[in-house]
Amino acid sequence: MAKKKNSNGKFIAAIVVLCVILAVVSAAAVYFYINGRNLSAHSNSVEGSLSAARDELESYEDALSGKQDEVEYFSRIVDEQSSAFESEKNELNEKISDLNKQISLKRQREAESRAAAAAAAAAATANGVPAAVPQPAPAPSGGKTIYLTFDDGPSPNTPRILDILDSYGVKATFFVINTGYNSYMKDIVNRGHTIALHAYTHNYKTIYSSDEAYYNDLQKISDVVFNNTGVRTNIIRFPGGSSNTVSRNYCSGIMTRITKGVQSLGYQYYDWNCSSQDASGHNVAVETIVSSCKKVPSSNTVIVLMHDTGAKNTTVAALPQVIEYYRSCGYSFAAITSATPPVHHRVNN
Ligand code: ZN
Repeated sequence: MAKKKNSNGKFIAAIVVLCVILAVVSAAAVYFYINGRNLSAHSNSVEGSLSAARDELESYEDALSGKQDEVEYFSRIVDEQSSAFESEKNELNEKISDLNKQISLKRQREAESRAAAAAAAAAATANGVPAAVPQPAPAPSGGKTIYLTFDDGPSPNTPRILDILDSYGVKATFFVINTGYNSYMKDIVNRGHTIALHAYTHNYKTIYSSDEAYYNDLQKISDVVFNNTGVRTNIIRFPGGSSNTVSRNYCSGIMTRITKGVQSLGYQYYDWNCSSQDASGHNVAVETIVSSCKKVPSSNTVIVLMHDTGAKNTTVAALPQVIEYYRSCGYSFAAITSATPPVHHRVNN
């Protein structure tokens, strides 16, 4: 019986120990379960904060990169603008240096042409070309001057023209060519008018075929005038005027060259600033010639273009009215001299 009691006690003790162990194990399990949950929650919250911090960092990075793009954009604009300013500055500098070159070239040319004119004048005396280099004269005191000029003579009409001029006491200028009436050249000079050079042939195709051809023709008419009158004149008028375009058909740029060339040789050329229109057709009506002559420019020097040819009888007929009109306007009359201010057209070839 005692033995049975003892074995029951051991069983109960074992149960109790087992229960205690179970309780401890359960308590530990509960503890770890609760703690684990807390840990996981904690870890979750740390991860959340980390991720938020990363997001924030990323947004800062984005903002920074945006700012960097802006800085790059503005610095590119500044670069572009400064390079534009630079190229503008270079262009302006080039223009300034071009202008400076032109100025110095112009000064050099002026000096050269002065030297050439002086040399030509010196050489010309020996070659029979008049040495006088025309100097601009002051405008006549008290008014305007009319210079009547007659081209293309002498002609059968020359004595009639000379008589009319004499009757009014008016001096004029004759730009002559080589005609069958060269003996009238002497009368022109003897009666106090200016004899001047126009051309030997007056054939555009011949005289404007080259610079050399023009100068040869000029020398020939100069010699004819000299042989007939003893006068070596330096006053000339280009056939067709310096503004003629017909010479383009024969030699490009010839008028540009010879208008300068003749002056450097000591000649002066005279165009006109009033035309009688007597060459605009055959037998132009007297009224047309007179009314054309009344269209005078406001210049103090009025050079009137007329013609002295056998066919131009209406010019002779109109001449008294033309002179009377100018006289009634208070103009004085004069023949062209080296001192007369030149009237030049715009050169077109
Ligand atoms: Zn002519």
